[in-house]
Amino acid sequence: MSQPKQQTGFLADAVHTGTPRNTVREAARMLEESGVPEPLASAEILMSELVGRPRGELSLIPEPLCGDKAALYESWVLRRRLREPVQRILGHAYFRNLTLELGAEALIPRPDTESVVDAALEAVDRLGGGCRVLDLGTGSGAIAVSIADERPACEVHASDLSGETLRVARKNAARAGRCTRFHHADLAAGLDSLAGGVDVLVSNPPYVPTAELDRLEPEVRDWDPHTALDGGGDGLDLYRRIFAESSPLLAPDARLVLEVGDGQAEAVQSLGRDAGYEPLGTRTDLTRAVRAVLLGRP
Ligand code: GLN
Repeated sequence: MSQPKQQTGFLADAVHTGTPRNTVREAARMLEESGVPEPLASAEILMSELVGRPRGELSLIPEPLCGDKAALYESWVLRRRLREPVQRILGHAYFRNLTLELGAEALIPRPDTESVVDAALEAVDRLGGGCRVLDLGTGSGAIAVSIADERPACEVHASDLSGETLRVARKNAARAGRCTRFHHADLAAGLDSLAGGVDVLVSNPPYVPTAELDRLEPEVRDWDPHTALDGGGDGLDLYRRIFAESSPLLAPDARLVLEVGDGQAEAVQSLGRDAGYEPLGTRTDLTRAVRAVLLGRP
């Protein structure tokens, strides 16, 4: 069956006569024409993963791609052109020290969330290192497995509503060589075995107000699961639930470390205060946006 011209062979000349560097250039040009953000980064990352060489070394590769790899690269670039995120195309994402497999029902872990892990590690260290951590709604396991990886003395638990997501998160923990205890649970429901024993509770809950979902970038709106994004009318539903439902699980001097969306920190602190928690400050991400709220019990 013949395909529309732009669907096939767009890199043919670059592939047959050129090096990976020329092919990347051609792909970036095409992605740019289609309005894909950061076209060169996408083209380079896909090529770097394809040939197994760092981005900075791509221009040093003298030989053209073999036919199979060229075809694969082309198919990846066409997917990216339709705004599929690079991480979904590759099937994995990098987060702190980890390479995480992604399930369709898990959010792509964001660099922003790395700062939430920093805040949680700070809370862990304040308690002396070997404490019990619970990550609610773990998705790919990014937060929980990072904490298990970077503070092996902790006992790390993680819950998720999706059994499929937990299967992938388990694999991610196994690949990292770290023991994390996974619970198939709607937030904290049914985690009675942890009652009174959680020292650090961490979560990146869904926090996008429902009406804003349609306005998200296509990479998020069309490829991240809405169950992991949709925080209800004001975006804060899950914080209300976390405050109401996790209290029986917490140790007396427990800390809560919650990721928040832009502009939500004050509202989350105030919900926490209303539910009997004490706001203990905030932490920013790499872009200096407030990304984590810390709370304790009074
Ligand atoms: N940070 C995500 C975004 O890019 C939202 C994640 C969440 O709802 N927890 O919109």
